[in-house]
Amino acid sequence: MATVEYKSIGKSFGAFNIMRDISFQIADRQFVVLLGPSGCGKTTLLRMTAGLESVSEGDLMISGRRVNDVHPRDRDIAMVFQNYALYPTMKVYENIAFSLEVAKRPAAEIKQRVERAAEILNLTPYLQRYPKELSGGQRQRVAMGRAMVREAAVFLFDEPLSNLDAKLRAHMRTEIRQLHNRLGTTTIYVTHDQIEAMTMADTIVVMRAGKIEQIGSPDDVYDRPASKYVADFIGGSAINFLSGVVVADQGGPAADTKAGRIKLDPALTARPGQRVICGLRPTDVTVDPEGLIAARSMLVERMGHDAQLCCEGPEGQFLAIIDKAARFEAGAEVRFAIAPEKVHVFDAESESRL
Ligand code: ATP
Repeated sequence: MATVEYKSIGKSFGAFNIMRDISFQIADRQFVVLLGPSGCGKTTLLRMTAGLESVSEGDLMISGRRVNDVHPRDRDIAMVFQNYALYPTMKVYENIAFSLEVAKRPAAEIKQRVERAAEILNLTPYLQRYPKELSGGQRQRVAMGRAMVREAAVFLFDEPLSNLDAKLRAHMRTEIRQLHNRLGTTTIYVTHDQIEAMTMADTIVVMRAGKIEQIGSPDDVYDRPASKYVADFIGGSAINFLSGVVVADQGGPAADTKAGRIKLDPALTARPGQRVICGLRPTDVTVDPEGLIAARSMLVERMGHDAQLCCEGPEGQFLAIIDKAARFEAGAEVRFAIAPEKVHVFDAESESRL
């Protein structure tokens, strides 16, 4: 059993405050991803959890115990770093065994734990190799093996896949998630890659400038982004934003934008005259001659299974995912439609979801 709880956590470096009032809980066996752009504070929050950085304000609880002043060694956590931090002069076996040797565990137990970790991670054939004789993915697995043998209650990952090429990264995502499904160790994983977050997390914590912007499942943050910032950060292709004013249309509210009228979900609490920003995902808009939204076709980018139509709209680029067989003349007007419930509407001032 391991839970992690942040209670009004703040962090300052000298007089400079970078984080304030971070509060959330991580339940036992959860895989939580801290997601945000560079500088938002996710690594600092992870390092505070590990005890590598002091906590300036609030209480940090692991399994119900306040650990603000507990030494990293005694927090029952294991951390996997971006650069893996393997010992180059030690073979894989020794790298994995190291923390157990330091803890003076009996030799038979060390052998058994290392061999078990190697088996789970498919590293058995490599135990007698040096790190430099391994691929990036294998090194990554050794780093995970080192965390695993400690049988820590919480795993912390700091952008562990950022040094790998795209294909290996996709493969390791699956491996780490499968490993979590098997071991069930409570995990906190830091990344700026929204695809990693979407594919691996039970819960995503979206951070912005030292604060939490939204906490939710991958579906929550994709389907109901709490702010324009989250809508912009989450999703494969860049979301289209169109600013407009709410009007009463037949059957419900709509937003009048420079690109045309966008019908909105009748359940929406928007008042006529309110200035809003509509977020339209490229995957949710369809090319439709009867559609009310207009943009000018520029270029079709083929993406293998489908294609992306890049248009020039009144507020800049407007993207739509289309059938790759469709043809568009450059410069021609294209009309688009979108289902009202697919439109993400944000107040223009606060940029919060309506
Ligand atoms: P990245 O993905 O680039 O690592 P991050 O979201 O993990 O970014 P942090 O590394 O946690 O961000 O940094 C958060 C903020 O704290 C940044 O503005 C950074 O400049 C600042 N910061 C981090 N470490 C220190 C330090 N030791 N002294 C002063 N400021 C720091």
